[in-house]
Amino acid sequence: MAVKAYDLTGRTAFVTGAASGIGRACALLLAQAGATVHGADLDARGLHETATLIKDQGGTAVVHHLDVTDRAQVRQAVESCERLDAMAAVAGIMHRSPVLETRDEDLDRVLAVNFKGVLYACQEAARLMLAHDTRGSIVTMASGAVDTGGPGLLCYGAAKAAVVQLTKTLATEVGPHGIRVNAVAPGWIRTPMTDRDDPAAQHRTEALMARMSPLGRVGEAEDIAHAVLHLASDASAFTTGQILRPNGGVAMP
Ligand code: NAD
Repeated sequence: MAVKAYDLTGRTAFVTGAASGIGRACALLLAQAGATVHGADLDARGLHETATLIKDQGGTAVVHHLDVTDRAQVRQAVESCERLDAMAAVAGIMHRSPVLETRDEDLDRVLAVNFKGVLYACQEAARLMLAHDTRGSIVTMASGAVDTGGPGLLCYGAAKAAVVQLTKTLATEVGPHGIRVNAVAPGWIRTPMTDRDDPAAQHRTEALMARMSPLGRVGEAEDIAHAVLHLASDASAFTTGQILRPNGGVAMP
């Protein structure tokens, strides 16, 4: 028998970054759980592929081809949902540069996508939930990078740390209305973002990541989607302002 707390039948979920990797896996899983899924992304082709996959598994998908750094586009897309029960703000980019070589434009771009893009999605989702008195759930995508730092990770880590702050702050502000806000901070996950051009280098990285985990394997996008489903559903009804770390148990210093 299916566990009712994970059943999203009759609910609406919005997923940014739905064209690829973790966002696509979230869109597919939330749809499998019964939600009507609104997917948003810059990548129109990937977005339509995700929608087709959802429809092939019997689900309902709506696509929004947009840039999460454009507040007006995000507002219009979110407002097009009649009601919103869950937001998963997943869209993001990777950037690496040593601190001494980091340019203003690098910082501005990464903060725009990885922080402001998440902020806009959270603001618009919370506004709609408040307007309709929906006891919804907002899930942001942080990263294990917020716990460790690491060479080249200044811009990326700063944006993800800001996402954690946003998550904790918004949780305190909308909690009294029954809206929950939590972050997922994945470890290294096999997606197009972590794909390297050189197969040998990819193999070495994956072997290293698998050795670092007590579970002896690397993470997959579906592992993160299950964490997002947990936070988006009633199964986590008493959880807010938290950072869930699906990282295979890799010890963080
Ligand atoms: P991915 O590259 O496969 O997917 C990212 C998606 O975001 C893409 O579809 C891309 O088109 C979309 N996107 C990028 N900029 C956008 C914009 N301005 N507007 C709209 N869409 C945009 O990467 P992924 O690994 O699935 O990453 C998803 C999220 O998970 C990111 O926030 C990433 O930082 C985070 N994350 C990933 C890992 C990992 O190891 N893969 C680890 C920790 C956190």
